[in-house]
Amino acid sequence: MNDINTCFYSPGTYKHATCTHTHYCIFNNNRILLENSIHELETELHQRITDLKFIKNEGTPNCADYEATRERITILNKDLENLRKSRNKIIENKEVKGYGFQ
Ligand SMILES: [Zn+2]
Repeated sequence: MNDINTCFYSPGTYKHATCTHTHYCIFNNNRILLENSIHELETELHQRITDLKFIKNEGTPNCADYEATRERITILNKDLENLRKSRNKIIENKEVKGYGFQ
C-alpha cells in the first residue's frame, strides 16, 4: 500500500489529478476528523497506561483510581479498535464514501 499521508496535490485547476488516495485523501475534512480522533484516543491511552503503572508501583490512597483507570483503558482500546476498523473499511474495502478528495 502506498503512503496514505501524502497527496500529490497540484495547484492546477484539477487539484487532485494525481492524488493516489481517492478514497482517503489527507485534505478531506472527514478524514482529518477521523485521524484526529484516533490520535487523541492513542494519546489518552498512552497517558492512562502510564498512570496505571504509576499507581501500581507507587500505590495510591484511593483504590478507585486504579479501577477507574483500568476501565478507561478498556474503553479506549475498544473505541480505538472500532475507529481503526472503520479506517480500514474506508482505505482497503473502499466501501465508505465521503473521505476522498473534495
Ligand atoms: Zn488528495
